[in-house]
Amino acid sequence: MNFLDAGYNGTDNWGTNAGQGVAGNVYVDNIEWEAGLHGGNQTQIDNALGNVAAHELFHSITGLRDLPFDPDEPRDLMTQDFNPNGPFQPGGQNWNAMNNNLGLVAWEKNALRALCDHPNGH
Ligand SMILES: [Zn+2]
Repeated sequence: MNFLDAGYNGTDNWGTNAGQGVAGNVYVDNIEWEAGLHGGNQTQIDNALGNVAAHELFHSITGLRDLPFDPDEPRDLMTQDFNPNGPFQPGGQNWNAMNNNLGLVAWEKNALRALCDHPNGH
């Protein structure tokens, strides 16, 4: 996992990932700047760094891409790119990350566990 300064560019790009086996990127400056702009305190900024890192790490380990938002699982860590709520509205993508409000759903945990138990596919 790379913790980088991206050069704040006015977007809410807090992280990227190039696929399975490739280290993801967390854009520390974007998170600090934009979360702070929306009233985030240091704890919320730290929460966001951790939540984004976990999201990107899941991509790196599983190779799975961003998943469609499921209103029945609104706190799914891997569906937040398609969260229909405003990013800084309660329940929105960045608000969730800042408030440590995200996690994996059961099948995602199982997929992760299978890969971590059997990293070479056997
Ligand atoms: Zn993603």
